[in-house]
Amino acid sequence: MPEGFVTAQLGAGYEPGAVAQQTVAVPIHQSSAYQFRSLREARERFALREKGFIYSRNAHPTQAVLEQRVAALEGGVAAAAVGSGQAATAVATLALAGRGGHIVAAHQLYGGTVDLFHDTFADLGIDVTFVDQDDLDAWRAAVRPTTRAFFAESVANPVAQVLDMRAVADIAHEAGVPLVIDNTVATPALLRPREFGADIVVHSATKFLGGHGTSLGGVVVDLGTFDFSASPEKWPALSEPHHRFGGVPLWDAFGREAAFITLIKSKYVGDLGPALSPFNAFQIIEGVETLNLRVDRHAASGLAVAAFLESHPAVAAVHHPGLASNRWHGLAERYLPRGVPSVFAFDLAATGDDEADYARAEKVIDALRVIRLVANIGDARSLACHPATMTHNHMTRDQLTAAGISFATIRLSIGLEDPSELIADLARALDAL
Ligand SMILES: *Cc1c(COP(=O)(O)O)cnc(C)c1O
Repeated sequence: MPEGFVTAQLGAGYEPGAVAQQTVAVPIHQSSAYQFRSLREARERFALREKGFIYSRNAHPTQAVLEQRVAALEGGVAAAAVGSGQAATAVATLALAGRGGHIVAAHQLYGGTVDLFHDTFADLGIDVTFVDQDDLDAWRAAVRPTTRAFFAESVANPVAQVLDMRAVADIAHEAGVPLVIDNTVATPALLRPREFGADIVVHSATKFLGGHGTSLGGVVVDLGTFDFSASPEKWPALSEPHHRFGGVPLWDAFGREAAFITLIKSKYVGDLGPALSPFNAFQIIEGVETLNLRVDRHAASGLAVAAFLESHPAVAAVHHPGLASNRWHGLAERYLPRGVPSVFAFDLAATGDDEADYARAEKVIDALRVIRLVANIGDARSLACHPATMTHNHMTRDQLTAAGISFATIRLSIGLEDPSELIADLARALDAL
């Protein structure tokens, strides 16, 4: 763990003495709005000249603690917490490319992100080019004059491809645009994108950050590394005066520390409304407090389960980059020295026929007793899913193949149970084949 990481997990952003009650745990500030001491105070806050809470769609005190805490763990300058990971991706990319811009994105992305980019962004006139994330020439070739962002996941799923982040960041910067990383699967406990050239991080806090499968949430972190003032014509929302923000360019008023997150909060979160509830913010803070301990255990158990699966005759392939046989093992050694996330997939020996492969996967999944059939990841409990008929069911045959998924593929998210019980569960289910 980097120095101070765990201390930040437990304390960043919250000062017990700041509220009279001195509660050591972060309180759930369940209030829709905030009482001003005077009209002058209200006027200054509305004009963004003075910091302070106004109305909970944009910010509330529990959310503010979560934002500072995740920003601290990622080494960022500021963060915006929102109602889901999906909202975090949407507001971050809209703020970069919302005015008819173009995005270059890995095609190894979470299905909801593919739908957002492919379908809804097409409706809005935002073009997205999808590239194989391992093909560096493809990233370079996809750049256009209108490109405003590169987007990828640090570790994708279900097949757990590890991104060569430094190389992709360099290409983004040559093109004069920021690299946005979805760091949901790795979390900052295993990988900090800032160390490899990324500029903005998004999270589904629903997964490992919360860690208990109770609450949806999302976070955008500005790492403060991208200089939007270098080509002001590309980012008019930051560089031009706007009457909504007091007629001053946001970059001039807030600078590198806060301009981008202020744009996200006061325009996109304010206008589109994907607010995070105080209760969910509290649940996610509770999760973050044990992040490194949980993630270490997830990683160790995931590797043990992967090694068992690799040795089983009914298994054709295990897509875990911690295994020496894996195509991304070299990248895992470089980017994930503290451990590999516990979300990965394995393929049953395939028959070449989708129906027959489905029937075999069904037999294994329905025989599991400890591992649960759930379309989620990053829960304290171990979860299994069948991507071809669940999370990726609307994909074409070609898209499935490109994503490395067949009807014989089963995804796992290994939880915090005793790993020997998980291995026994899988052994029993596989032996039944
Ligand atoms: C779940 C997930 C999302 C979307 O997050 P929600 O909180 O479900 O909206 C985005 N990216 C990744 C990698 C995810 O796993």
